[in-house]
Amino acid sequence: MKERILLIEDEEKLARFVELELSYEGYSVVKAGDGREGLALLETETFDLLLLDVMLPELNGMEVLRRMRRGGVSIPVLMLTARDSVVDKVTGLDSGANDYITKPFAIEELLARIRSALRTSQGAAGFGEELSVGRLRLDNASRTALFDGTPLDLTKREFDLLQYLLENKGVVLTHDTLLQHIWGYEYEGESNVVGVYIRFLRSKIDNAYNVKYIHTIRGVGYVIRNEENP
Ligand code: CA
Repeated sequence: MKERILLIEDEEKLARFVELELSYEGYSVVKAGDGREGLALLETETFDLLLLDVMLPELNGMEVLRRMRRGGVSIPVLMLTARDSVVDKVTGLDSGANDYITKPFAIEELLARIRSALRTSQGAAGFGEELSVGRLRLDNASRTALFDGTPLDLTKREFDLLQYLLENKGVVLTHDTLLQHIWGYEYEGESNVVGVYIRFLRSKIDNAYNVKYIHTIRGVGYVIRNEENP
């Protein structure tokens, strides 16, 4: 069955482009050009995912998000934000957005985020879903990472980074994406903090257990996957 995606975006050209690409990938796309129209659709129809622009006429994206969550609509929401709207992103995640992507974005990145959001929401155990790669797994309830059942000694930041990599297993995450998700905006410009923490994780996982899970994709970013048994 085709997954239904609602796209609320007032930039007609962008909306049209995203619609074409998503349709090509096999999704069924419904478009709304302003917040009020989008909210009305959310209240009357069923969707699997919402792509929500922040700056919208009639009702802005934040307000759409707040009202739909208040109304009990729990589908994953991926916000489309402008490069400089730092406050929007923070407020968006606080208001119940699952993820965001910064404009302009590469369509491949949007598709990866959509797959990841749909996977998370459709996983058998939902948000309690166990994250794992190879012999490593996360216990989200106790916030512990276990290698063959042995707990790893990770800092909160290392755990957050590992968790985010695992939530996007097999998806290459850019340096900027990791920086924004794990560290937040005050760190923008701190160019090597991501690399430093990747090294910490590698020493505690890959090097400690002689496996290769955390991969560097030169000039792009990082991905976690088990190459022996993908
Ligand atoms: Ca807009």
